[in-house]
Amino acid sequence: MAGPDRYMRQTILPEIGPEGQSKISAATVAVIGLGALGTVSAGLLARAGVGHLRLVDRDVVELNNLQRQVLFDESDVDLPKAEVAARRLRVVNSSVAIEGIAKDVHAANIESVLEGVDLVVDGADNMELRFLLNEVAIRRGLPWVYGGAIATNGMAMAIVPKVTACFRCFLPQMPAPGSLPTCDTAGVLNAVSSVVGSLQAAEAIKLLVGRAPAGELLVFDGWTNELQKLRVARRTDCPACAKGQREFLGAKRGQVVAAMCGSKTISIDPARKEAIDLAGVEARLRRLGPVRSVGSVVVFDAGDATLTIFSDGRALVRGTDDPDRARSLYAKYVGA
Ligand SMILES: [Zn+2]
Repeated sequence: MAGPDRYMRQTILPEIGPEGQSKISAATVAVIGLGALGTVSAGLLARAGVGHLRLVDRDVVELNNLQRQVLFDESDVDLPKAEVAARRLRVVNSSVAIEGIAKDVHAANIESVLEGVDLVVDGADNMELRFLLNEVAIRRGLPWVYGGAIATNGMAMAIVPKVTACFRCFLPQMPAPGSLPTCDTAGVLNAVSSVVGSLQAAEAIKLLVGRAPAGELLVFDGWTNELQKLRVARRTDCPACAKGQREFLGAKRGQVVAAMCGSKTISIDPARKEAIDLAGVEARLRRLGPVRSVGSVVVFDAGDATLTIFSDGRALVRGTDDPDRARSLYAKYVGA
């Protein structure tokens, strides 16, 4: 239903108006990752009347997601997030064309996943996907909105290739696996992740109606209530947007996932090969479940699967033969 009153509360805004609304309605937006940030931003964009939404996520709903991922409820546990989110938002706004794609996005399929897309909202749970998205965005001139939230802090930035700094302008090298806390190891305050998802939806709407991007990283501290705007300059030596390197799109640097012959085990080999802080990884995991050091590896019991983490960032995920499930566990507990 798209009656004349449906978007009145935003078309009366001088910043949007009927002209802005028709731009919003003509746009195709992909939301990559449907966690805390992605469910909030996708919900707001569907309500704002984005013409076509493509919702992409590799994971299924877990009970501990319900604390912050606003499109899911208890009856959705174990169901693919992309499908649940699409079903829910079709009921919210039947005039939006909504696709749910339950895929793991990587170098080999990102181009087809983003086919026909005008803007991307980043709801990813791992750095590798952001670096990959950054390269595709530069190659295609595709605007995207970065977002991240951890503990009581969040960040967001609208990135327009060749206009603003790109993701690698402010993070030139991908952090080593295990060196950053993840939502699963550090936790997140649900109001903070919702703020960041809302900031991303606002940045997306501004870009869609043609407002020039500010080139600023928004940094929000949900405990002290500080909101900072940090100007991020384009780097003249940026490997991605200045030198045009495509390290992540070129599959050579991509994470390699391989099923182990004859056992329910998947091997994950991270893109970045370098020693990781195993003691730090072990300390973070200790709060989440049984973990032990065995020689030079750390073994973590993640319930129905066991992760064996090596000092070079490699991991074996035992108890599953599903590569996507293994990648997902790796991103959650080691971080990539
Ligand atoms: Zn750059």
